[in-house]
Order: sequence, then structure tokens, then C-alpha cells
Amino acid sequence: MLVKEEKILQTYFGYETFRPGQKETIDNILQTKNTLAVMPTGGGKSLCYQIPGLSRDGTAIIISPLISLMKDQVDALKSLGIPATYINSSLSASEQQTRLQDVFKNRYKFVYVAPERFESYSFTNTIKRIPLSLVAFDEAHCISQWGHDFRPSYRSIVPQLKQLANIPVFVALTATATEEVISDIQQLLHIEKDSVINTGFERDNLSFHIVKGKDRTSYVRSFLEEHPNESGIIYTATRKQVDSLYEQLQKRGFSVSKYHAGLSEEARKQAQVAFIHDEVNIMIATNAFGMGIDKSNVRNIIHYAMPMNIESYYQEAGRAGRDGEPSDCILLFSPQDIQLQKFLIEQSMMNDEAKQLEYRKLQAMINYCHTHGCLTSFILDYFNDQPTQETCGRCSNCVHRQEKTEITEEAQMILSCVKRMGERFGVGMTAKVLKGSKDKKIREFQLNNLSTYGILSAYTEKELTEWIHFLIAEQLLATEEGKFPTLKLNRNSVDVLKGQRPVWMYTAPLPVNEQADYH
Ligand code: ADP
Repeated sequence: MLVKEEKILQTYFGYETFRPGQKETIDNILQTKNTLAVMPTGGGKSLCYQIPGLSRDGTAIIISPLISLMKDQVDALKSLGIPATYINSSLSASEQQTRLQDVFKNRYKFVYVAPERFESYSFTNTIKRIPLSLVAFDEAHCISQWGHDFRPSYRSIVPQLKQLANIPVFVALTATATEEVISDIQQLLHIEKDSVINTGFERDNLSFHIVKGKDRTSYVRSFLEEHPNESGIIYTATRKQVDSLYEQLQKRGFSVSKYHAGLSEEARKQAQVAFIHDEVNIMIATNAFGMGIDKSNVRNIIHYAMPMNIESYYQEAGRAGRDGEPSDCILLFSPQDIQLQKFLIEQSMMNDEAKQLEYRKLQAMINYCHTHGCLTSFILDYFNDQPTQETCGRCSNCVHRQEKTEITEEAQMILSCVKRMGERFGVGMTAKVLKGSKDKKIREFQLNNLSTYGILSAYTEKELTEWIHFLIAEQLLATEEGKFPTLKLNRNSVDVLKGQRPVWMYTAPLPVNEQADYH
């Protein structure tokens, strides 16, 4: 005989088996233990609270940071015959009131709300007085200051919720699993170590690619020409980039739509619906688009510029291939992206400590763009997850792995230059000294008198910059965090300098003419 939760899986949802982590999460919740489920995007987190919600008496309250997703979630449940609703500011006051009255009459199994709803007395007063099955925090990383999308309103409701005597169990769900975020959520919601169900991150249908030194717009155009009729998202760093790329691609007859926070709600809604229903192939958007979008056939995610950290990158890239079919995640990198991201951190309202953390995360993102190792392994390593294999064989570094070139001597020159510069300068200045640049600043600091000045003049400053980033990414050189990170030697650098550690580059550096600036 089937146990109750398996029966619900089949009868309500029509699925035969649980996905990894689902059953453990559900069992844990049913034992009324506060639970954190960490699963990759598309891993099936919703079922983890929906099945316990169905098998227990009472109403489940789901707190979700994005109003735009609630309707889809509720429609999906309703289509399965499950009574569900949402209450948010998109509804008229009288509609909100009607729904709240129905909540009071226990008419719903699931009620979706945004954290702000808890500021309403009539809402909190209602849920206080009805039987609840559970309270779930969707996208729970938004609770944590360490998360990449911290929402203070999300965190601030937790103490209030803890005072409600009728909440049997808290559930938190996220696809972000850095240690800091996990332990923060655990502490805040009193979740025991055994109740953290982390399924690991690997998405073996995704292939990661880094593209450097290409004109971005031409790259996107030829990519779309080679992949007609495929559904994809292009993420840009700014609204302006969304508008300009949209215009260029639309003019050339591509099936595109656009989405960013500067558009009216109506325009955003239309764009989203058209994309989800496959009326347009390509969505060009800022990171405002996509959280919780359940579109299974997205075949490629192109990042038109480097995002600010690996957490956001993996979450956005993870929107590809939710159906399990092979999909591509392409990041178009340009050195200017680093400046833009630093600018955004500097401009933000964060305090100094938070900024330092952002700089540290940004450095990891920069390293990702410069490593010559397997990109999948790099990401899994970042999340402290174990790859199933040492190299994925799918990412651009694995696929384009050329003959190994030994660059120990050049690496030694770079490292000794860093040392001679007193470990007081960053990547740009170091590249200039190695090149033998006539830059005014070099003379100001008398760096032109160093024995390493011009020692690698046969290379361009861009190539040298690339090499330095490569040494950082391979942890053969360290950087101090901050707005102007200075280069420092580490233990590995010393081994290289002593000739105890050879340095190999897997992919040849880009030919100079391909490094022309792009926009
Ligand atoms: P997440 O929130 O983790 O990104 P969702 O809960 O939206 O993922 O689920 C992604 C997709 O997988 C949905 O279409 C969902 O219906 C489907 N799904 C979830 N669990 C299962 C399962 N056990 N078997 C088959 N499909 C599933």
C-alpha cells in the first residue's frame, strides 16, 4: 500500500516518483520539525510544502517575495482542484477583504502572501485565529543578509511569526546554499542540522560557457541565428542595455520581448505572459525578471555582461533546462564589467562590512571568468558541493581544452613584479609595469625603476591583465578585498617563485586582435 504522501503525489500531481530530497523534506515537515530544503532551481521545491499542506489539517501560509509569481502558483494549484488563493496589493481592497474572509472560514488549503502583508492588522489577526498547517518561506535566502537578494521586510516578520502559537512548523526553501545563508536561516527559524535537506547543486543538463573578446551584439545575433525557435533569456546588467539590445534585435526581425523594473506593470506582465506561452522566443531582461518563473523549455541563458556574484549567476543560469533537456548558459565577459559591478557596489546603500562581502563575492565571479579549470566544478566548489566527476566535459573550458602550455617563467615574472611593487597595487598597474607603460602614474610612483619594468613587454596590457586574473583564479596570487584590490603573494606564489610548482595554462591566451573592445 502506498504511504499517504506518495498517494498525494500521484493522485493530485500525477507524478510517479519523488525527486531527490522531496521525500525527506516532506517526511521531516510531517514530523513537525522546522525544515530547510536546498534544491537547485527546477528541483521541485513547491511540492515539498504542498504535499504536507495537503496531508495536514488547516491552511498553509506561503510567504513569497514576488507578487508576480503568486498568481501562477495559485492557478497551478487550482487547476489540480486544490483550494488556493493569494492576497496582495495587486487586488482591490474589497477583493482583499473578501479573500481574507474566506481565509477566516478555512476555505483555502494554501494562501500566498508577500512579507508586507504582515503589516496588516486584519491579516495577522485572521491567521492567528484559524488552524494552520505550516508556514513556508519561499526563496528563503531573501531572509538572510548574506543572501544575494536580501529583503529586510522578509527578515523582520520572523519574530512576529514566532509569536503566533498556531504555527506548527516552519518550512524554508531556497536554491542558494552558501554556508552563511544556510546557517543564518537555521538560526533565525530554529532549524536543526538534521532538518537541512540539501540535495546538492549539480545540473548535469546545463553546459556553461565563457565567451571573451567578441563583440557582444554580433555574438548574440549569430547565436540566435544558429538557434532559431529556441526559447532563451538574455540578461543584461542595466535597463539601458535591455532597451538598446531589444531595439537592435527587434529591428532585425528576431522574436524578442523585454522586461525591466522601469517598464509599467502592464508592459512587464504582457512580456512575461508572451514569453511563458512561447509567443516570443527571447526575453531580454535585467535580473528583475525570472525569480520563480516556471518555464520548463528555456534552452539557453545568455548573460550579456558579468553578474555581480556566483549566487545570482547560478540562479539565473539555472532557469535553463528545467525539463532536464541539454541547455546552454553563456556568459559574455568583458573587463569593463568588473568596473561596472564595482561601481554598483560603491553606489549601493550597504554599510562597509556588507560592501566588503560583496567585493569578496565579486572576486569569485571574476575568478570564474578567468579560470581555465572546469566551470561546473568551479561553481560546485563555490557552494561547497561535490561534483560527481572532476571535470564535466561539457563546459567551454572542458570542450576547448587545448594543448597545455607551460607559463611558469612568465608567472614567476608576474609574481616577482608584484613583490617588487611592494604588494601595494592592483591588476591594472601591475600589467602596466610588466608592459613597460609610459603612464604618468608609473613615473609618479617610480615604478619604472624596478627591474621587472617592461619585463613582459612582448605582450599587450590586455594579455597581461588576463594572465594576472588567471593566476588569481588559480589561487597562485591573492587579492585584498575592496574597491581597489591590491595584489599579494600567497603560499602558492612562493612555491611558484621557488620553482617548486609549475604553472600550466590550458587554453591559449586570446589573440590580440580578438580582444578589441566591445560594447
Ligand atoms: P523549484 O521551485 O525548485 O524551482 P518547482 O517546484 O517549480 O521547482 O518544480 C519544477 C517543475 O518540476 C514543476 O513543473 C513541477 O511540477 C515539476 N516536478 C516537481 N516534482 C516533481 C516530481 N516528483 N516528478 C516530476 N516532476 C516534478
